[in-house]
Amino acid sequence: MNSHFSDEQQRAWAALDLGPLYVSREQAAEQGNDQPALSSQPEVVSVVSEESVPLQKLARTELIKANVVQANAVTQLSPTWDGLREQVAQCKSCNLCESRKQTVFSGGAFGANLLIIGEAPGEEEDRTGEPFVGQAGQLLTSMLKAIGLDRQVDTLILNSLKCRPPANRNPAPEEMAACKPFLIQQIELARPKVILLTGKFAAMAILGLELPIGTLREQSHQFKFADGTIIPVLVSYHPAYYLRRLSEKSKGWADLLKLRALLRLALP
Ligand code: SF4
Repeated sequence: MNSHFSDEQQRAWAALDLGPLYVSREQAAEQGNDQPALSSQPEVVSVVSEESVPLQKLARTELIKANVVQANAVTQLSPTWDGLREQVAQCKSCNLCESRKQTVFSGGAFGANLLIIGEAPGEEEDRTGEPFVGQAGQLLTSMLKAIGLDRQVDTLILNSLKCRPPANRNPAPEEMAACKPFLIQQIELARPKVILLTGKFAAMAILGLELPIGTLREQSHQFKFADGTIIPVLVSYHPAYYLRRLSEKSKGWADLLKLRALLRLALP
């Protein structure tokens, strides 16, 4: 453990039980089990960019000054979880339907206060139908546990895309655009109190901002529901990033503390 970490950080990260194995993205791709990355610019939704708002200054009224994402109007999608799941399972709106084993709809609990959004299904997710499996998923579970959250009970987990891009290639812009209404409808149905976007491309899918995670995680963002309700959005690195960059784990701990603070602020 790096000596510049505080004692509290070192205890927390030790509790994450990362294990000794750290697989690079390139190695994982060679092994055929990497998480795909999205590099294309998705459809841009309305975003108001302002100065970064430090977490310690966040208050309910101040949240409105931060980046705001307006939910797209979705009129033809099912208003129920079962109906939407069936629509996703039957979807042939983009080429990814031809190569998927199955769609990956969600993980965790529908009534959770925290919504976590990842990128696109990888090979293991395509096989199991569950988001965030494998090493990155195990790390996410441990990270949530470090701030007292049970992944299966306290979070709802979604991917930006519901079908795996073949050979873990990057999704095309039209694939992102085709799948986005499902994601927005899922958010509307979930009505979370806080959203965590993990990874640059999940942030791109929701915020429409093609900026480094290092920049986005320092800013404050919001999601605006169709009825006008606004909730905070936190951007952080994908857990797979920490598997590749051990030296960056202090940022993960800082983001966990932000997440915990946002949840406490958002809950009565
Ligand atoms: S990725 Fe989304 S839009 Fe494309 S086929 Fe799958 S569910 Fe439909």
